[in-house]
Amino acid sequence: MNGKRSPIGLTMFILAIFAIGFYIALQFAKKDDALTRTQVALGTLIEVQIRGVDRTDAWHIMDAVFAEIRRVDTMFSTYKESGPVWKLNNTSDTLVSVPDEVLALMLRCDTLTRATRGAFDIAVQPLVRAWGFDGDSPSRPDDATLAAARDASGWHHVRISEDGRIRKSPAAMINFGAIAKGYAVDRAVAVLRSYDIAEGLVNAGGEVRTTGGTWSIGIQHPRSPSELAAVVDVHGRAIATSGDYEQYFEADGVRYHHIFDPATGLPARECQSVSVIADDDMTADALATAVFVMGPADGMEFLKQYPDIEALIIDEQGAEHVTPGFANYRTR
Ligand code: ADP
Ligand code: MG
Repeated sequence: MNGKRSPIGLTMFILAIFAIGFYIALQFAKKDDALTRTQVALGTLIEVQIRGVDRTDAWHIMDAVFAEIRRVDTMFSTYKESGPVWKLNNTSDTLVSVPDEVLALMLRCDTLTRATRGAFDIAVQPLVRAWGFDGDSPSRPDDATLAAARDASGWHHVRISEDGRIRKSPAAMINFGAIAKGYAVDRAVAVLRSYDIAEGLVNAGGEVRTTGGTWSIGIQHPRSPSELAAVVDVHGRAIATSGDYEQYFEADGVRYHHIFDPATGLPARECQSVSVIADDDMTADALATAVFVMGPADGMEFLKQYPDIEALIIDEQGAEHVTPGFANYRTR
C-alpha cells in the first residue's frame, strides 16, 4: 500500500522488516507460547499470533487469516494494476463503478472526512504522488507542482452518486493508506473469531487488534526505535499509531513525512506520533491520521465528543498528551 519500490529496494525492505518481525515473533514466542506467523502485505509487516490452539489447527487458521489480508490488500491497493483503486485513479472517466466493498469503505471515509472537517481525506493521492511517497525516493516538489497537486487533491472532487457509482473530477485520485491496514486487521480478527479462537492478535505495521486474553502492546518511541513510548493492554479493542518516523526524508534540517495536511499540501507539523484506541481498528487507524493532522490542541478538543475513544499524542517537542481514559489501558 505504501510504495512502489525498485526490486533491490524492495528486497532490502522486506529483509529488514522480516528481520525485525522475526525478532519480535521469537521474543513473544518465548514469553508466552503464542504461535506467530509474519508476512509482508499492505506495504508493511503483518503479524498474527494465536494462543491455546494446537499447531496443526493454528497452521490452517493462519492460512485463512492471511488469505483474507491479501484479498483486502488487492482490493484497496493503489498499486495493484487493474485493481479497483488503480482503475479509479487511472481513468479519465468521471463516472466509475467500484465493487460493493470499496463503495462501503468510501462511504465510511465520507463520514470520517465530514467529522474531521477534512483532516482525514483519502483523495490526497495527487499530494502523495507529488511528494514521491508512492515511490522510492520522495522529495520536496517545486512550488508549481505542489500547488497543482493541492488543487487536484480533496474529497470535494469526489461524489458518491445515488446509484452507488463514483463521480469524480478527471484528476482526482484516492489512497486508502490511512485506513486500509485498520480495515484489514478488523477483517482478519473476524476470521480468527469464526474459528472460535480464544486468544488472538493481529498487527499490521502498528495497527493492532486483539481478541480474548491479555496482550501487552508496545507503542514505539517516535525518536528512539529501540524504546517504547508506552505499553497498553486494550482488552479486545483496537489501537492504531500514525507517526512521522517510518516514511520520511530530511532536507535542510526539516523532516518531511507522509501524512499530509490537506489544507496546506504539506506534511502535518505538530506531532511525532498519535496512537488511538477504539472498538475497531479501521476507526482507530483513520482517527490516528486525522488527529495527527489536527495537532495536539485541536485533536484533543475534537476527541472530547467521543468519550470511549482514547489517545496518546506525542507532539513535535516530544511531550505527551493523553485523553483522560488512556491511563485505564496503559501498563507502562
Ligand atoms: P501509517 O501508514 O504509517 O500507519 P497513516 O495511517 O497515518 O500512517 O496513513 C498514512 C497514509 O495515508 C499516507 O501514506 C497516505 O497514503 C495517506 N494519507 C496522507 N495524508 C492523509 C490524510 N490527511 N488523510 C487520509 N489519508 C492520508
Ligand atoms: Mg491511519
